[in-house]
Amino acid sequence: MGARSRQAENTGFACVHCTAPVPANTDGHYRNHCPFCLWSLHVDELPGDRASECRQPMEPIGLVEKSGKGWQVVHRCTACGHRQPNRLVRDGESPDDLDLVLGLPWL
Ligand SMILES: [Zn+2]
Ligand SMILES: [Zn+2]
Repeated sequence: MGARSRQAENTGFACVHCTAPVPANTDGHYRNHCPFCLWSLHVDELPGDRASECRQPMEPIGLVEKSGKGWQVVHRCTACGHRQPNRLVRDGESPDDLDLVLGLPWL
């Protein structure tokens, strides 16, 4: 039941880059980037821990494929340069913009 505690963080937010209202995920994972422009916010040291003090915008710079996890979008923090791969949202309400995803370079 440990996964339940994460439910509280699965809330909508306003995108740091395009200011669009980003709805919460409906596929059981929380969303950490905007489905419309793919930008994120540097809030994690490790995925999901919300431990970073940086809180600056993270730019989508490319794609990687991880065995077992499928495609992931790589975000780079515009302030500190931290890189973080994140899973794409393909299902549920407001999936990631596939045209934007496919326009990213493979890293
Ligand atoms: Zn956005
Ligand atoms: Zn940062």
